[in-house]
Amino acid sequence: MALDGSLERLRREGHIVVVGASLAGLRAAETLREEGFTGTLTMIGDEPYEPYDRPPLSKQVLLGLVPVGQTALPRRRTLDARWRLGAAATALDMAAKRVTLADGTSVEYDRLLITTGVRSRPWPNELEAGLDGVFVLRTTDDAARLVGRLRAGPRRVLVIGAGFTGSEIASVCRERELPVTVAERGPAPLVGALGGVIGEVAAELQHQYGVDLRCGVMVTGLEGDGAGRLRRAHFSDGAALDAEVAVVALGATRNTEWLAGSGLAAGPRGIACDAGCRAFDVRGIVSDDVFVAGDVARSPHPLFGYQFLSLEHWGNAVAQAEVAAHNMISPGERRRPHLWTPYFWSAQFGVNIKSVGVPNMADQILVGQGSLSEHRFTAAYGYQGRVIAAVAFDQAKWLEFYQRQIEQAAPFPLPFTTVDRRTEGMRPVPAGFPDPSVPTHGPEVTVSGHSPTDQRVTFTPA
Ligand SMILES: Cc1cc2nc3c(=O)[nH]c(=O)nc-3n(C[C@H](O)[C@H](O)[C@H](O)COP(=O)(O)OP(=O)(O)OC[C@H]3O[C@@H](n4cnc5c(N)ncnc54)[C@H](O)[C@@H]3O)c2cc1C
Repeated sequence: MALDGSLERLRREGHIVVVGASLAGLRAAETLREEGFTGTLTMIGDEPYEPYDRPPLSKQVLLGLVPVGQTALPRRRTLDARWRLGAAATALDMAAKRVTLADGTSVEYDRLLITTGVRSRPWPNELEAGLDGVFVLRTTDDAARLVGRLRAGPRRVLVIGAGFTGSEIASVCRERELPVTVAERGPAPLVGALGGVIGEVAAELQHQYGVDLRCGVMVTGLEGDGAGRLRRAHFSDGAALDAEVAVVALGATRNTEWLAGSGLAAGPRGIACDAGCRAFDVRGIVSDDVFVAGDVARSPHPLFGYQFLSLEHWGNAVAQAEVAAHNMISPGERRRPHLWTPYFWSAQFGVNIKSVGVPNMADQILVGQGSLSEHRFTAAYGYQGRVIAAVAFDQAKWLEFYQRQIEQAAPFPLPFTTVDRRTEGMRPVPAGFPDPSVPTHGPEVTVSGHSPTDQRVTFTPA
């Protein structure tokens, strides 16, 4: 099919700007070139480094198996791009098709791709967050600081939050034979991502590896010594713990602040886009010039009730970037939807965890292969009588089978027997995800005063 004149011109001599020079940005840029875009390509990234891989940061890099700074993403091809690294985008003018940078310069575009990802949610108390010994882990600079401190052999590490990142950090500490305490507000590690049944297995693993795991508690304060070094943490159950290092692993915040006032539908939950990666504006109308991909994007998925999914998954960033790039330079009838089935992996406490689908939508779980007590199993998740996800502990070989079941909306539980199914896998049980309508903790913030002039917000963790 012939392209209309303006699209042909865009492909030949247009200017495509990518804001966010990491995994999704790089893979999109490569796809643009692969698919014949010969115009100008500008890559804007606020980090001073060329795109690097993040998953090794909490695994091989912290373990000292891969040197810091050695996780550059492999290049699939030469890009012929203008790189503006160490330059944050600070504003977007959609009418003028212009991105402003922190140094006051601006870049005009014909098509824009936003891949600004997420950053670590910081410890909420700024003074405490600034103590020497308090860390987060998202960037290669974060990893450099943390690995240096772990190498020095702290007497105890405190990990705040037992999601995937927190659990991986705790696992590294144990491999380094460092005493580690993990504090988790929920009833078990990984409970938000994989539910209570699997959370119990994750807790057993942590205990087995000698982690001092404390669930159902919050860290309420971090205390420093006279020199501003972290000395002690205080917990909501009244306990106190001496620690020299605290790693805050409380999830992520989407990098969308720079889009405030731009007219794009961007906020704390990400940038909403359609399945073709076109960004919505605040009126809910898709733009034909601005596309989104990777961790910062929220897009609807037909397999999961058209819910807008925000995924912080490596594979999703790659797949969505490729679709976005293709659609940016293709006419409407050749555009593709991003129909990737979510897939995630983690390595911790000697176990390879892989999941497919969207586990936290599930209401039930059934262990299809192996056994929870052996820490080697595959379990399927069901929602309203359909298979919607699966998780494997050291048994990834079955996941492809479950992925097909998810993609075909197979009934849950599967109406046939599976290999290595034990008694515990004969009947589904509640998956044990926290009820989102029930508060997970007491109030953290209280407002005092009556008039607008004397009203105060106080941070008061329960
Ligand atoms: C420690 C760690 C371990 C992980 N392990 C796994 C794993 O085991 N499995 C898995 O599936 N996924 C894992 N992930 C997640 C995976 O790395 C992400 O899904 C992936 O990096 C997303 O890529 P992205 O390009 O969308 O976003 P990012 O990688 O977050 O890149 C966004 C880039 O945009 C930049 N940026 C932000 N704002 C601006 C701005 N205003 N101007 C210019 N640039 C800007 C950011 O600094 C960053 O460089 C892990 C992540 C981390 C941090």
